[in-house]
Formats: sequence, C-alpha cells, structure tokens
Amino acid sequence: MEKRELLYEGKAKKLFLTDDPDLVISEFKDSLTAFNGEKKSSEIGKGALNNKISTELFKLLESHGIQTHFVQMLDDNNMLHTKVDVILIEVIVRNIATGSLTRNLGIEDGTVLPFTLVEFDYKNDDLGDPKLNDQHALILGLVEHQDELDKLRRMARQINDILHPFFFEKGLNLVDFKLEFGKDSNGNIILIDEISPDNCRFWDVKSGEKMDKDRFRQGLGGVTVAYEQVLNRILGK
Ligand code: 5GP
Repeated sequence: MEKRELLYEGKAKKLFLTDDPDLVISEFKDSLTAFNGEKKSSEIGKGALNNKISTELFKLLESHGIQTHFVQMLDDNNMLHTKVDVILIEVIVRNIATGSLTRNLGIEDGTVLPFTLVEFDYKNDDLGDPKLNDQHALILGLVEHQDELDKLRRMARQINDILHPFFFEKGLNLVDFKLEFGKDSNGNIILIDEISPDNCRFWDVKSGEKMDKDRFRQGLGGVTVAYEQVLNRILGK
C-alpha cells in the first residue's frame, strides 16, 4: 500500500491518501493538545501507543459485529483504514460524571450515573464543540434523518456494552469516551477515528488513578507511562 499526499492534518493525526481511492492512512502523532488546542505539548511514543490501543479495540469491536473503518495497522504510527464522509458529530458516552458534565450541570465528580448517558457535540473547533440536540443536528444538516441519530446512539451504547466490561475485567473503569462516525461508500454508518486514552477516560478500579489524557490536561505528568499501562492491560500483560 503506497502512502501518497497529505489530505488533512489534525491535532493528533495526519491523514494520507493511498493508491486505493477507498483507503487512507492515519499517521498517529506524538503531539498532545487540550482545551481546544490552547494547551500543547508532545510525548515521544504517544502516537504509537494510541495506534496500538486503537488497533486492539477496533479488532475487539469488529469481533462483536461493530462495523469500523479499521483495515490494518501498518507500522508503529500508521493505520490503514476505509475512507469515509465524516459525520461532524462527536458522540460522548458517560458512565461516571466528571469533566464537562460536572462543570455544566453541577453533578458531583465521580457520581455513577443511573444509566449510560449519550450526548452529541458539534465537531467544530471554531465554535468550541458546543452541545447539540437532535433538532440542532438536523437543522445543521449533519445527518439526513432522525434515524441516523438514533443509529449513532444505538451504536454508541453497543460499543459501551462491549468496552465497559472488557476494561472492568482489566481493572480499569471506563468513565467516559468520545466516538466519531462516518459514512462509507455504500452509505453505511461506521465507527471511525481512534479509541485511545486521548479520547477516553480510564480510572484504575482500585486506586482511582487517572490513566488517560486528564494526566496532561491536569498537569499530573506520567502521560505515556499511563497510556502504556492501558495497552499492557488490554494485551493482558
Ligand atoms: P468532556 O465533555 O467531559 O470534556 O469529555 C468527555 C469525554 O469525551 C472525555 O473522555 C474526553 O476525552 C472526550 N472528548 C470530548 N471532546 C473531545 C475532543 O474534542 N477531543 C478528544 N480527543 N476527546 C474529547
């Protein structure tokens, strides 16, 4: 598979065309950003860890019947995947209240939610990724029909039902996470982007220690050590 010209550079990944029009390559970067790009840094090895973690989780989800864009991990930092039309909605799944939920609604940090909460954010850096309801999403034309919003919610819950027990068994509480979806060339809605400690919160079940990007957001240090531990637990090491 030949890596061709750069199509797009995001905060955590670069996207390259390939010699196959249906396939693209994501190169996972070592850069770390938070607060809509206001806080920036870089950690050697972070990109490779996220590529490996995402590869394992995409394979796990595929084995449970979830359609994803994953095709193959090419090397430490490069993943081959299906080219899609990105749906500009960030689907946020929450099991425990923290982060913007506690800030916005005053729910006490660490409260176990009575049911899994699924929210939509508008994927728009200029606007700071504001919250969306279904009518906003339809008015903005982010999807064509209500059915598609229902499908995003359904897939997000299915993914949580697979990942939450998977991580709990490995001593990690999957607190919350962000998913992205796209439409493939047949119009199917599939899971895209990455699933990694950059867009998930993991708390150690025993110690409560944060094992995700909050270590960077909150200046706790030990970012790549924590990401490596997440990978090792996924691999059962
Ligand atoms: P919160 O809304 O509390 O900031 O984030 C909820 C969850 O979604 C967290 O796991 C967080 O990592 C993830 N998340 C929300 N928005 C973004 C985003 O724009 N980029 C990334 N990487 N993760 C996000």
